[in-house]
Amino acid sequence: MKKRIFGIETEFGITYVPSSLGPIGPEEAARILFKPVVESWRSTNVFLPNGSRLYLDVGSHPEYATAESATLRDLIAQDKAGELLFADLLNQAQDSIEAEGKEGTFYLFKNNVDSAGNSFGSHENYMLERRVEFSKLVRSLIPFLMTRQIMVGAGKTHPHGPEAWRPLTGQDKKHGTPSFSFSQRADYIWEDASTATTRSRPLINTRDEPHADPNQYRRMHVINGDSNMSETTTLLKIGATDIILRMLEDHFPLENFEIKDTANALRTVSHDLTGTTRFELADGSYKNALELQRNYLRAAQKYIADAGAHHADVPYILDLWNRALIAVETQDISGIDTEIDWAIKKKLLDSYIARGAKDYADSRIQQLDLAYHSIDPDRGVFNVLQKAGRARRVIDPGAVEKATLQPPETRAKIRGSFIQAAHRAGEPTTVDWVHLRLNNKPQLNAVCKDPFATEDSTVKQLIDLLGAQKTQEWMPPFI
Ligand code: ATP
Ligand code: MG
Ligand code: MG
Repeated sequence: MKKRIFGIETEFGITYVPSSLGPIGPEEAARILFKPVVESWRSTNVFLPNGSRLYLDVGSHPEYATAESATLRDLIAQDKAGELLFADLLNQAQDSIEAEGKEGTFYLFKNNVDSAGNSFGSHENYMLERRVEFSKLVRSLIPFLMTRQIMVGAGKTHPHGPEAWRPLTGQDKKHGTPSFSFSQRADYIWEDASTATTRSRPLINTRDEPHADPNQYRRMHVINGDSNMSETTTLLKIGATDIILRMLEDHFPLENFEIKDTANALRTVSHDLTGTTRFELADGSYKNALELQRNYLRAAQKYIADAGAHHADVPYILDLWNRALIAVETQDISGIDTEIDWAIKKKLLDSYIARGAKDYADSRIQQLDLAYHSIDPDRGVFNVLQKAGRARRVIDPGAVEKATLQPPETRAKIRGSFIQAAHRAGEPTTVDWVHLRLNNKPQLNAVCKDPFATEDSTVKQLIDLLGAQKTQEWMPPFI
């Protein structure tokens, strides 16, 4: 497909660390975090003027789903804007408990595993044309998704070594030497593709919800990836996956690497920093992650040389992809240690070990591993590194700030304008990715099936009904 719609959903981990008085459990912490959302929008499940969705699902993981974006740069700006929106809510939560006389600190982590070993997700959404053979495309994509973690994983320490590859109980947890893996999420995925997202977690969720005209489009819902802090890692993750999807859509010849046991291979690859441990393919042969990724990169280079680059970041994506593979091949991360999450983190942790921390199980290392993912703009470890120039940016900080208020140039613009106008007028609405409705004018119901559209005549009518305030500046979402 010529242009594609992308979206990223991120579930965050929330923690309250008391310095006096009692603890606050995650569910109560999430409730406090969402207080300003409820006060501003009367719900814990809202669409915001920037076109995004911010919500608290069952459980206690606050979620931000970016607005649908038509460029990778818009997507990254929207993704990072989600961190800023939650940082604002976190500040307000902090103020509110301090006003109650409690002493302690709220933290929000953009990672994928909590201290109790529960995993939560990062979902990538790629729009596809309905006419592509979906199940065939999914089958061909899985070996790429399984092995891309060696480039785009967020990195994770394991104080007791690689975890047993089954649900852990009691004593089973205590085995092995402390270690570091590429991926946070790999230990928690159990199958290739299915309609489930929680119990038997697949790499790809095949539930058919296109959030667009179902006759024309499908949505590929990839749920095995790690949440990334690094903008360049996100650019590589989504950018390389988009290139592979284009190759499959264009029937560009790709070798068949169907894997015998994907869940097992995922763990093998994640815990092998050399990229050389082999896993079995469906045809009985054995391959390793480096062999597969080298093969995919070579094919991608050839495809782009033939078809041309479809956006300005393609050369950078291919180059970073190559450098990430070289880093694994040579066991020298110096070529990627400001651009790839696992390498940025590993460099930091290894420098602490060189200066006296015992190993990856050391409590300081454990703390740093977690604090890397803190979204606090001033104290989160990744954010500190980025400000010090030790993590490369893709998006100017001013543009991220702007993306907290303004939608990207897609259907999100229609939705954002509508939400903003209705909110100013104090009119209740019912909104999802496709539908917009003023609850008090149920006969005027806008259906926006085209995610590339930036204008809609029915919505314009609805906004006109809401009166003159519509032209004002984009407003802060939580007042
Ligand atoms: P779940 O809560 O089970 O994850 P969901 O995947 O529908 O369900 P949302 O959290 O609502 O969850 O997120 C939808 C994501 O899909 C958003 O990131 C959004 O930008 C993206 N999206 C919206 N429309 C399209 C589209 N037509 N194609 C691809 N992605 C889309
Ligand atoms: Mg979601
Ligand atoms: Mg989802």
